[in-house]
Amino acid sequence: MAKLYFRYGTVGSAKTMNLLAVAHNYRQQGKKVLLLKPEIDTRFGKDIIKTRAGLEAHADCLAPAAGPLVLPDLTDVVCVLVDEAQFLTADGIDSLHRVVHLSPKIPVICYGLRTDFRRQLFPASQRLLELADTLEEIKTICTYCLHKAVFNLKLCDGSPTLDGPAVELGCEEKYLPVCASCYAVKHGIAADRSTG
Ligand SMILES: [Zn+2]
Repeated sequence: MAKLYFRYGTVGSAKTMNLLAVAHNYRQQGKKVLLLKPEIDTRFGKDIIKTRAGLEAHADCLAPAAGPLVLPDLTDVVCVLVDEAQFLTADGIDSLHRVVHLSPKIPVICYGLRTDFRRQLFPASQRLLELADTLEEIKTICTYCLHKAVFNLKLCDGSPTLDGPAVELGCEEKYLPVCASCYAVKHGIAADRSTG
């Protein structure tokens, strides 16, 4: 049975590297995969999927920030791989769910952030948590300690900030993977001592 996968992780957890490795493995076996990315992610060029390590591939399809997700012909495609899935629309995730379970019943693997820098779900990530058949966390280490990173810390001119739009696209110097404790410390959120 085909599945809808949500492989989520913080910034810097090598999600795109993972995606490109999966695409490479399929293609090396002569199998056709479709690479999908959100239209609003133009950091490396409109249709380029690129890792921080410098690997890149062309996206076959761009998902709009609003309106319906129109997929190309999926004949012979054995898997759809989605980069930065948090920037799709919730409806777009529903469309992918139909690809998996109605027609043409092929697996879709979405890579993306679970929450934004305010620790709130992106709409598409919420929909993925609701619909995905398989949830897989891609783990990385906190920037400041050795715990697992679970949140994304936004820095503006080197200082932690909670300002700005949730969909401002990250670059390495602006967003950092952090654990829950370091997120709180960096934002000066005092520990709750009232419940002792
Ligand atoms: Zn930490």
